[in-house]
Amino acid sequence: MSYEKLAKAGFASLLELAIHLPISYRDNRLSTTLHVGEVHTFEAEVVSFSTLPKRLVVTVRTPITHEPIEITIFHPKPYHHALYKPGVKHYLQGKIERFGAKLQVVNPKKLSKVGEIVPHYQTKLRQDLHRRLVASLVTVENLMKEGLDELRATLIVRAHQPDDVWLRLYHRHGGLGPKTMEAVKFAEAFDYFKRLQGKRVDFPAMQRLTGSVEPFVKRLPFTLTEDQQHAIREIADDLQREVAARRMIVGDVGSGKTMVILASAMIAYPHTSILMAPTSILARQLYEEAKKWLPESVDIALVTQSREEGNIEDAHFIIGTHALLYRELPKAPLIMVDEQHRFGTEQRKRLEKLVLEGESSTHAKPHFLQFSATPIPRTQAMIDSALIDVTLIESTPFVKDITTYIIDKHGFGHLLKHIEQEIEEGRQVLVVYPLVEESEHIEYRSLEESEGFWRERFDGVYVTHGKDKLKDEVLQAFAKEGKILLATTVIEVGISLPKLSTIVIVGAERMGLATLHQLRGRVSRNGLKGYCYLFTHDVKNPRLQAFAQTTNGFEIARLDLKFRKSGDLLTGRVQSGKEFLWLDMGEDEEVVKEAKERVLSMGHTTHR
Ligand code: ADP
Ligand code: MG
Repeated sequence: MSYEKLAKAGFASLLELAIHLPISYRDNRLSTTLHVGEVHTFEAEVVSFSTLPKRLVVTVRTPITHEPIEITIFHPKPYHHALYKPGVKHYLQGKIERFGAKLQVVNPKKLSKVGEIVPHYQTKLRQDLHRRLVASLVTVENLMKEGLDELRATLIVRAHQPDDVWLRLYHRHGGLGPKTMEAVKFAEAFDYFKRLQGKRVDFPAMQRLTGSVEPFVKRLPFTLTEDQQHAIREIADDLQREVAARRMIVGDVGSGKTMVILASAMIAYPHTSILMAPTSILARQLYEEAKKWLPESVDIALVTQSREEGNIEDAHFIIGTHALLYRELPKAPLIMVDEQHRFGTEQRKRLEKLVLEGESSTHAKPHFLQFSATPIPRTQAMIDSALIDVTLIESTPFVKDITTYIIDKHGFGHLLKHIEQEIEEGRQVLVVYPLVEESEHIEYRSLEESEGFWRERFDGVYVTHGKDKLKDEVLQAFAKEGKILLATTVIEVGISLPKLSTIVIVGAERMGLATLHQLRGRVSRNGLKGYCYLFTHDVKNPRLQAFAQTTNGFEIARLDLKFRKSGDLLTGRVQSGKEFLWLDMGEDEEVVKEAKERVLSMGHTTHR
């Protein structure tokens, strides 16, 4: 029995085998006392037997009680008669019940071996082979060699070979005790970090970047939030290294990521940095902000498909769309991507090439910072950090004041009144439909079916399907003079709409919480009082009700995970790739943190 057998059995590591705990246990130890109603294993000596129609009744004597026990075997086979000849002894297992005045066991199991608690595994091996594999490899000594501490190793081994007390607690609690649970979670996280440790490859940086952010920060009319400052410090620390940075900065919509981007460009200055955004509107907006906030000495250029501004060859800071990927660029030791999650696969591949330019691993690479507005639970961030550094920006400079209502058709009149009132006060409204055209599969009206309704009652109604050619123009025009914008869920309003106070989401229960959160995040920018109406036929939906209670993206990411696990999701995309047996991304922060630190402290050259 050896480590090679592990791979054959489908386990990538010893720890993976170790945390693959039995799904049940069979207690084959001989009972010493008798409790009516419980399953017992006992030695039975046949005293007599009688054949009745369709059953065999055997009377046996056992050491666990003075009373004789009646064994009833329904539909006996010929061999049963031989088996239960008076005088023979067997080990039997079955539930002992009192039937009238007599103790009785119906259809007991005959055991050839007693005296053990036998674990039962879900495995593609034969049970006995799997048991032998575990028994030979999952030992305290071996687990400690893998890096586990003695206590956790002992707890895990005991879960494979439980004793009496352990098993009783297991049955009483209906599962693992908290200490054993913690140990397997730790082992799972530890195994994950250990195995990924070699996978992260670090490249030499093209340039160490050590510029000062002071000239930029000084000019700001506000103080940066703690989280912004922390992110900037981490980035400054990354960029001054000789190793090319790989960092993902995750912050909710409105958490002020642009300031962190601008600060990063300052750290790179006077060297060139490149910033890529998913849409031309967003690129332009970032360009305007950069010009507004960065010191004049920083030369800035804009590159979109239709337009170029500034001097690209000599710029310190080049901002653009994916058009950047299809042209010659000056050498830049810092590359950044905003709203990273909105790029397509093809663009990501090209981007990767840009960042990893040069074939050999010794070839210097630019520092690379990705910014994402899709919050992930802290624990998930820590898990992801095995391959890329992660910074979370969890606070926002303005606390969003958004009231969320869940309504059905009975609430629609109230909604219309609210919309009229908001428009009266110069605010704007966004209505999101699940579909463009009518469909038999969806019990909600489509964008096209509803357009007439809105146009009849309001002016300043703008429509975009989200994929139409003129989408950007429609959005720009709406931003300036529109009142109501009708759109579908594919809408990605990259630009800020400071007057947008209300969003109505039709068929909200069909969407993932992450999507709902992105949509709701469009309103109440800059502290404006916001309203979100979730229109649904299912007003009692627990997911929507939980969503209505919080606007914190990180909290919503946790909720999303929780409801995903309970399977209450109709549509929406899967966020996290890796599935864990025990770890819960919403809850197991402590144990993941400790596992990560343990692996790091074991020392390895490529990781830091
Ligand atoms: P994100 O890109 O993370 O969604 P932005 O960078 O667009 O958010 O910032 C949202 C708004 O908050 C912008 O108007 C920005 O100027 C403002 N802002 C950013 N940081 C601060 C801060 N520390 N204090 C006050 N306002 C800020
Ligand atoms: Mg942004």
